[in-house]
Amino acid sequence: MSLIRNKRIIELINEYRRIWALKRMLNLAEWDLAVYMPEKGSKARAEAMAKVEGLIQEAFLDKKFIKLLEKARKEKNLNDYEKGIIRVLSKSVDDYRKLPKELLEEFIKTTSEAHLIWVKAKKDNNFKLFEPYLEKIVALSRRKAKLLGYKKHPYDPLLNEFEEGLTTEETENYFNELKPKLIELIHYIKNSKNYKLEHKLHSEKYDKEKMKELNLKILNYLHGELNDLRLDLSAHPFTAGIAQGDARITTRYEGISFGNCYSSTIHEYGHALYELNGHEDLGFTPTFFASSLILHESQSRFWEKLIGTSKPFLSLFYKDMLKLSKNMKRYSIEEVYRYINLVKPSFIRVDADEVTYHLHIIIRFEIEKGLIEGSINVKDLPKIWNKKYKDYLGIEPKTDSLGVLQDVHWSSGLIGYFPTYSFGTALSLMWKHHMEKELGSLDKLMNNKKGVEKIKAWLKENIHQYGSTYRFRDLVRKSTGENFTPDYLVKYLNEKYRRIY
Ligand code: MG
Repeated sequence: MSLIRNKRIIELINEYRRIWALKRMLNLAEWDLAVYMPEKGSKARAEAMAKVEGLIQEAFLDKKFIKLLEKARKEKNLNDYEKGIIRVLSKSVDDYRKLPKELLEEFIKTTSEAHLIWVKAKKDNNFKLFEPYLEKIVALSRRKAKLLGYKKHPYDPLLNEFEEGLTTEETENYFNELKPKLIELIHYIKNSKNYKLEHKLHSEKYDKEKMKELNLKILNYLHGELNDLRLDLSAHPFTAGIAQGDARITTRYEGISFGNCYSSTIHEYGHALYELNGHEDLGFTPTFFASSLILHESQSRFWEKLIGTSKPFLSLFYKDMLKLSKNMKRYSIEEVYRYINLVKPSFIRVDADEVTYHLHIIIRFEIEKGLIEGSINVKDLPKIWNKKYKDYLGIEPKTDSLGVLQDVHWSSGLIGYFPTYSFGTALSLMWKHHMEKELGSLDKLMNNKKGVEKIKAWLKENIHQYGSTYRFRDLVRKSTGENFTPDYLVKYLNEKYRRIY
């Protein structure tokens, strides 16, 4: 019997299917924009995507659709899946009611143009080029926050867009708890005799074709046949869940320091697996894909860090790593492990180690909060950025490409998104703890394909199958029996890095 049984809900979902189709096509256009579209296509693509977004809004606010939603809302004895569908659709309708079509279209148009400008500004190390676009994106975001409404802080509705229910206050409390513990650990590491600013592998070049082979081999080990997954190239690695049976990840081959490419491929795989594992009965519903970014990042970080950086997993691919360049045979598996797990303050968030990573996020959170409440101006960003890096990490980027221009997010209008990276990482350690209680040690499981299947089955059972049926805090409670906490993260980092350093 299907998970969706209530007649009213079935009617609603049938009506939803045209929105579903538009959304799937929009996902594909977004993926194509970042992967294949020639540069000159950006204006027309921006216009087309903005119009499709407009059609989605119209469909959500269509009288017939709203009537069906209102009828469905009155139904009693709905199961959790059906309630999830109502919750997710109601949120969309509420948001679309508050945001005029003209604003949404302008937002999409601005951000799709801004994306390629950002790529160029980053390449040319020219913040001034990107500045007017970012000004506009911040102004649009502030307008959006005002229209969506808030009780305490104008940043709240923007956080809520990416993580249902997350507030500024909650985020501040979380970071206030984490920050001193991380700084204490970084202090310990910096005083260790093993502390190094560089590992030789950071400047070791690699053969891009061989790296691609390694990536595919890893994906095959984790996933088997790639008949529902692709690997392509883009400026900034990302994952796109297009629809059932179609997830796509991207990477970039920088040709130096292979660990970045290695880690990001495994990271994106974690996202893709989640996109592929929703319950098939939810396939055409709005809850098939997970909407919680915290849950999503808990999956990518789980694979990237808890599997990808562990010694047993690295050992599985050590022979293939030796093929990356002639010099590779100079490095033992022990050396590769130390390189992949080197802790040092650095400029680039996506390449940051597990310990300093959260400070990168805290910096972005503080800046975004300032931009939205109006205490920080866009034109001062390079200065403020560099000062915060100096204060928190003790280093100052020499160029804006290594600083304020590094991330794709603001060019895409993603303000309110960054905190989910840190929350998600903390959550991945909760999953590890509870999975190991049931299945035994992760280090043993990842050693063979059968074990990997067990890991995947656990994740599907406890997390993936639900899509966005539950809010993140509710799913955490349901699947682990406890409330979200950063304690497991702090414990893990201390145990692991006090052993290495
Ligand atoms: Mg991610």
